[in-house]
Amino acid sequence: MAEVQLKAGRDKSLLNHHPWIFSGSVDVVRGEPSDGETVRISNASGEFIAWGSYSSKSQIRIRALSWNQAAKIGPDFFRLRLEQAIARRTAIIPDSRGNAVRLVHGESDGLPGLIVDRYGDILVIQCLSCGAEYWRELLADILMDITEAATLYERSDADVRQLEGLLPRVGLVRGIEPEEAITIQEYGLQFWVDVRRGHKTGFYLDQAENRLGVQSLARDRSVLDCFSYTGGFAAHALAGGARSIVMVDESQNALQLAEKNLMQNGLLSSGVSILAGNAFQVLRKFRDRGQKFDLIVLDPPKFAPTAALAESASRGYKDINLLALKLLNPNGLLVTFSCSGGISAELFQKIIAGAAVDAGVDGRIIGHLHQGSDHPIGLAYPEGEYLKGLVIQVD
Ligand code: SAH
Repeated sequence: MAEVQLKAGRDKSLLNHHPWIFSGSVDVVRGEPSDGETVRISNASGEFIAWGSYSSKSQIRIRALSWNQAAKIGPDFFRLRLEQAIARRTAIIPDSRGNAVRLVHGESDGLPGLIVDRYGDILVIQCLSCGAEYWRELLADILMDITEAATLYERSDADVRQLEGLLPRVGLVRGIEPEEAITIQEYGLQFWVDVRRGHKTGFYLDQAENRLGVQSLARDRSVLDCFSYTGGFAAHALAGGARSIVMVDESQNALQLAEKNLMQNGLLSSGVSILAGNAFQVLRKFRDRGQKFDLIVLDPPKFAPTAALAESASRGYKDINLLALKLLNPNGLLVTFSCSGGISAELFQKIIAGAAVDAGVDGRIIGHLHQGSDHPIGLAYPEGEYLKGLVIQVD
């Protein structure tokens, strides 16, 4: 087995069970590990610290799998990890949630680079690191065995694969080809999901609990769902008694599915407007027209995938939030999110505070929101926290 020895003093975060080892911490690589192969990680004195998956091209040179020297990284190890990840969800997710849940959330479930989402009896997998790629066939077999899924589909087309030197891969892995669009249930509503061509694995499961939260805030309110994708927030707002809804997204495909989703739930009415366009421009247009709302949801895409892009991303967040704050009626609510790993919760709050000052709007925070509980954050892995949200009530 190949061994990677760390430089003196560079083992601290690993000893604290942070799973990433950056290339700059590596002193010597003994043997010639192929990408994804398991290596023994040792400190500068050669003592064992952990087992991990090697990745020759990524800045994240190794992702640790186990700190137990006796562990055998193989079929039994991965079966147990997958079973544990699923059992974790079973233990906390209520039946009312429905049948779409993230089963495996990478590092935070002790399975670096691996994402598994369940949509009824369809599983969608993403292998985002060399380690996950290396064990892919085995992981697929175990998943089919322990979940009794009919389909395992792969959506390993996320950009981060490039950083690992991996090409995108999309397609059927096990079982039967999924339909063009499938339906799932989420807190009593039905949604059409396109697992083959939709964003991520098809649906933004990380917002499920926040969509339910918006349902409880929406009664009798006029609502703007900005960056609506397939209408998740909009459908929940309408189910919660919203008076009217405007959905805005730049993706025609997403909006088509959004309309279908409202129809499926009997929520399509004359109070629903669907607008294809750039949210930055649409918000300006609303401002110029003096259009007002009682509740605005802002759920933009990742403006800052990495900390390096935090500054330009901050400007983007400030811009849309400033505009949205101006569009609110007295006592109106802004439910605003950032899913950028490069923007901390603290920075996000500062950006929103700055936007309010510049908008000439006073308000207060009445809620802090996070990614759902099926997207847990490893205690030693703060990078696992990516989605943060604020509920602001303006004066
Ligand atoms: N709120 C959604 C998820 C939103 S994901 C849900 O709960 O399912 C972000 C969405 O923003 C995507 O649908 C994407 O098409 C859209 N988008 C990205 N840039 C945009 C822009 N400049 N203007 C409008 N929509 C945009």
